[in-house]
Amino acid sequence: MEFNIALVPGDGIGPEIVGSTVKVMDAVASRFNHTFHYTTYLAGGCAIDEFGEPLPKVTVDGCLASDSVLLGAVGGPKWDHLSGNSRPEKALLGLRKALGLYTNLRPAALQPALASSCVLRPDIADKGFDLMIVRELTGGIYFGERGRNDSGDAAYDTEAYSVAEIERVARRAFEIARKRRRHLTSIDKANVLETSRLWRETVHRLGQTEFPDVLLDDMYVDNAAMQLIRAPSFFDVIVTSNMFGDILSDEASQVTGSIGLLASASLGDSSRGMYEPIHGSAPDIAGKDLANPIATILSAAMMLRYSFNLSEEADFIEQTVSNVLQQGWRTADIKEPGAETWLSGSQMTEKILSEMI
Ligand code: NAD
Repeated sequence: MEFNIALVPGDGIGPEIVGSTVKVMDAVASRFNHTFHYTTYLAGGCAIDEFGEPLPKVTVDGCLASDSVLLGAVGGPKWDHLSGNSRPEKALLGLRKALGLYTNLRPAALQPALASSCVLRPDIADKGFDLMIVRELTGGIYFGERGRNDSGDAAYDTEAYSVAEIERVARRAFEIARKRRRHLTSIDKANVLETSRLWRETVHRLGQTEFPDVLLDDMYVDNAAMQLIRAPSFFDVIVTSNMFGDILSDEASQVTGSIGLLASASLGDSSRGMYEPIHGSAPDIAGKDLANPIATILSAAMMLRYSFNLSEEADFIEQTVSNVLQQGWRTADIKEPGAETWLSGSQMTEKILSEMI
């Protein structure tokens, strides 16, 4: 099969990790007989330097014309003095909006080989975990009406959700659960918030009518924050609102170990998605060949699975990464405390490529 992929490497380590990922994608393409065509676009700080704005129209148009988008990371100290809409990070929101991406997927799995670097108690880490957080991305309190009173000594933010907004993200979560262990946990604060009560009603109605084969349960967000640390193996797929998902997905990512391993996907109604590592542009290590490319490589695996429906190819990438870690190979960010040698970013890429042969 043939796919057009828009590459948006961005700033800092972005070009290094996207470059590594393209090599891995090409190895997958030749093994499974696919063709990936890449076009590179600027966004973030590099676009400010070149075009005077973080998200030029040519980038938006190119991403809209592609089958999917692979993004590195944007931002860095060079552009920190800029404010509001001129900042590099504005490109991310702009791309999500332009591509109509209202669902964010963040897997958090404990790689068996890295159990010793997990911050959880060994008896909990030993059970392992593999969960997926499905977060609503374009509604809720982050997009609600907000303001201050005339004297400026009081402020408000409002949370609003419609049935349609809840249904579309919940449907996506049920579909993902169906392809995994068929267990969906909907997280809310229905004992306090009216939006959460609507959330709960809507998710249950959808479950009964369209997904009776998926086990659905609910959990209050405060309890979920505890259970992610006490018993992460309970979870398969989690679906939740924008703000709760923002907080819980960062919590879940921290319990796995390294930021350099964690992928994400943003999806909308079409098969086109935007795939990116959860970390930033890491200006402190940019250009030193220290960046771990694995989070971006695993993001590409998500692209193959969720946008191109190439599950076998996605499994192949994930299994290869897991094998390389199992063999003990580490980049600096995931090395054992006290270890004196580690791989550079390009050496890790080569290890992954050689494991694919
Ligand atoms: P960061 O994620 O870039 O870095 C945090 C720490 O993790 C740093 O020590 C960094 O060296 C390390 N790290 C990150 N990715 C790594 C990798 N792949 N391999 C090895 N180590 C890695 O977060 P930050 O320092 O808070 O932000 C730096 C810049 O990135 C800022 O301008 C910020 O706005 C931007 N940012 C962008 C995104 C994005 O594009 N999605 C997300 C977060 C931050």
